[in-house]
Amino acid sequence: MKIGVLALQGAVAEHIRSINQTGAEGVPVKKVEQLEELDGLIIPGGESTTIGKLMRKYSFIDPIRNFSAQGKPIFGTCAGLIVLAKDIAGGEEPHLALMDIQVARNAFGRQRESFETDLPVKGMEKPVRAVFIRAPLILETGEGVEVLSTYKDEIVTARQGHLLAASYHPELTEDYALHQYFADMVKDAQAAVKL
Ligand code: GLN
Repeated sequence: MKIGVLALQGAVAEHIRSINQTGAEGVPVKKVEQLEELDGLIIPGGESTTIGKLMRKYSFIDPIRNFSAQGKPIFGTCAGLIVLAKDIAGGEEPHLALMDIQVARNAFGRQRESFETDLPVKGMEKPVRAVFIRAPLILETGEGVEVLSTYKDEIVTARQGHLLAASYHPELTEDYALHQYFADMVKDAQAAVKL
């Protein structure tokens, strides 16, 4: 099972390391053609405006929408969550516009710009170690979006079918549980295709 990490900008190597811990193979994705050989895709944290610009420059937008339309799972973390969202508060142009969520960028206020916490996530045995860095949060969710965790009443993890989004960086810790959760989503999607 191959899981790609979009390697235009941001925390790529760390995601690959975490994916490899789940038994799947993590692959850095620099070219659109590589999408064909992937079973799942991670859009990492970094800076969403930059990632969005580079995705347009290298023509990734439609191929990734296509990838999603095939039911292949996509996991966006931090800036990657913003890239997945249909609506970015403040009127900024959305990027992939795949997930029915409204997000606010840099939403945790100055004194809390970066912090780490143990976050209970629905469906997971233990809390997930989560690193928040100038993190976005989810303001609204559409029908079909399941909230998997909140931090101080704000939504920070959500799932819509084959799409998973987290406000934080699970890849900057030694806790691979959320990557395992995503790898299981990819496995389930593969099984569904074979039926
Ligand atoms: N603040 C960044 C943005 O708005 C996201 C931060 C991150 O990915 N750590 O794109």
